[in-house]
Amino acid sequence: MTLPKTMRAMALAELGGPHCIMDTNLPVPEPAEDEVLIRVRTVAVNHQDLFTMSGRAHMANLSFPHVMGIDPSGVVAGCGSRVTSLAVGRRVVVKPPIACDACEFCARGEDDSCPSLHNVGVHRWGGHAEYVTVPERSVYPISSGLTHAKATALAHSFPVAEQMFTRVGLTGDDVVVVAGASGAIGSAAVQLAKLAGAFVIGAAGSPDRAARAAAAGADATVDYTAEPDFAGTVRSIVPEGVTLFLDPASNPDVWKEVLKTLRNRARVVVCGSHAGPMVQINNNWLFRSRVAIYGSAGSTRRGMRRCLDLAGAGRIDPAIDSVRPLGDIREAYADLGSRRNVGKIVLRVADGDW
Ligand SMILES: [Zn+2]
Repeated sequence: MTLPKTMRAMALAELGGPHCIMDTNLPVPEPAEDEVLIRVRTVAVNHQDLFTMSGRAHMANLSFPHVMGIDPSGVVAGCGSRVTSLAVGRRVVVKPPIACDACEFCARGEDDSCPSLHNVGVHRWGGHAEYVTVPERSVYPISSGLTHAKATALAHSFPVAEQMFTRVGLTGDDVVVVAGASGAIGSAAVQLAKLAGAFVIGAAGSPDRAARAAAAGADATVDYTAEPDFAGTVRSIVPEGVTLFLDPASNPDVWKEVLKTLRNRARVVVCGSHAGPMVQINNNWLFRSRVAIYGSAGSTRRGMRRCLDLAGAGRIDPAIDSVRPLGDIREAYADLGSRRNVGKIVLRVADGDW
């Protein structure tokens, strides 16, 4: 197969925001020895990109043009000389954080904590282009039962939610409150907790979002905009109290209420802070209740494989808001930034199977 020399890309010309994304042609990247060249079919827009564009992604020392897009799915179009597990033509998806595979954390399967983590679309070019190169160790085959759009919608959020539950040891006996339960990570968490057999209460910020959380499988929902003091409602649903609070947002008003519902020795796990970051905790309550609070970030290779297996078998279903042409990327970010989407906004980069 002869590859073109240049590719269409929606690339960031400078920091500032979505208006700095230009429709351009860039050289098709060459895969290094351990890298795979992927012909991109789908990729999403993510809050991470808004962060990158704003210049607040302090870890990224960007040069321009920069191609964002953390979660491309597509077809292998070329392999470096040391690639062994993938071949041209294979349908694949990218796990956004790339771990080193060599440190003590990676050796123990705790690659979410790898000190060398770097991200596709942040620290190197991503998938808002017709081609992307990614190290083999962060490229995963997808089954024929999974569309590229679903694989893209899964790649970031589901493994992150899976890792949060791994961190705190989710069991089928848990009574879980998921904050932001209609969001990407929240709805993934609802599905994974239900799969484990837990009882799940979804907390969401509008009637529509609460309905989405119910559709994702939540046993009960609370709308914290309509009912800011919802602790009593949760207590009426689960009089014994909540054993696990999963929070991707850190909304201090939601914390205030959920903490009132926790059973002794409950666990709290946090993976985001866009609605906070500051929350109040009474340490008198904390030590007496023996509650444990965990931070979680990123995901593991094991978690990524597990989520892909579950999705391929139809046991989880990543929510998609819409699938749009790559050229509509600025409007997609406008919708994402004002939170008009419910589910992932996926961009279609190539015609054909997506
Ligand atoms: Zn490592």
